Amino acid sequence: MSTLSIIGTPIGNLEDITLRALKVLAAADIILCEDTRTTKRLLERHDIQVKTMSYHVHSGLARQEEIINLLKDGKNLALVSDAGTPGISDPGSELVRIIRQRFVPELKTGELKIEAIPGPSALTSALSIAGVSCADFTFLGFLPHKKGRETLFNEIIGSERTMVFYESPHRIMKTLDSLITFGTLDNPKTVTICRELTKIFEEVVTGSAREIKEYFEKNKEKVKGEFVVIVSVRL
Ligand code: SAM
Repeated sequence: MSTLSIIGTPIGNLEDITLRALKVLAAADIILCEDTRTTKRLLERHDIQVKTMSYHVHSGLARQEEIINLLKDGKNLALVSDAGTPGISDPGSELVRIIRQRFVPELKTGELKIEAIPGPSALTSALSIAGVSCADFTFLGFLPHKKGRETLFNEIIGSERTMVFYESPHRIMKTLDSLITFGTLDNPKTVTICRELTKIFEEVVTGSAREIKEYFEKNKEKVKGEFVVIVSVRL
């Protein structure tokens, strides 16, 4: 029997990892990592010495076959991404999809198990401190740079539902501009930016898109790091 464990890892603070995740990582035969250097820092912090292997967006079919063969050989594999929950806007879901397709009988008999070892995600961390309605919400991942962008902004502004997406420091000002442009007076929105979650400079900024843009224009040194953007109905 072999197991593929999909493990949530910290999004900043290296202490944000569950006891179970540490146990499963330490017991794995091989840890599949988005970037082995990033994961090695986490493993060193927790004194875990396990072989690592890279698995990222550019890993081709050969690497997927290698992983499939390891599972056929009865190896226990752990999959982690650079931060947070694998598959949430980063590699992981594609591998899980392929393995589910290739191991249908083994998954039925229990010869192969794919298990979730839950942990942090920037998505849930941001929603947990934003103070917005999140009984239901839509997660958009990263917004497209060109095709479909305009339609999506219309949707984000028009929706009564809380909308959440990931953004890079290079595009955050452009995104705020779009939120201002597509905004309407009859449907004002609150924008919440959660930046550098769980890190030293963690910050939550809330206001209209225009207010937030002005804030970042005045505090240019803060236009860096990692961002989650939440657009919600004004309370
Ligand atoms: N799998 C991850 C998760 O579960 O959140 C997300 C990976 S995605 C490639 C990386 C994006 O997540 C960043 O560009 C940023 O938008 C968001 N992110 C990751 N860590 C973050 C943090 N500490 N604070 C704010 N946003 C973060």
